[in-house]
Amino acid sequence: MKIYDCPRCKHHSLIPTGGFLSCEQCSYAITAAALAVEQRLSNARSHDAQK
Ligand SMILES: [Zn+2]
Repeated sequence: MKIYDCPRCKHHSLIPTGGFLSCEQCSYAITAAALAVEQRLSNARSHDAQK
C-alpha cells in the first residue's frame, strides 16, 4: 500500500482510515479519490515545468 506525505504539513504520513486518509498531526483529511486527483495534477504540473 502506498503511503502519502501530508500535503498540509508535509511532514507526517497520511494514515488510511476507512475511505479517508488523515494526518494525525494537523488533522488534515482527504478522500483517497481526491488525493489521487491531487497527485495527478501535481505530476502534470511538474511535467509541464520541465518542458
Ligand atoms: Zn499534516
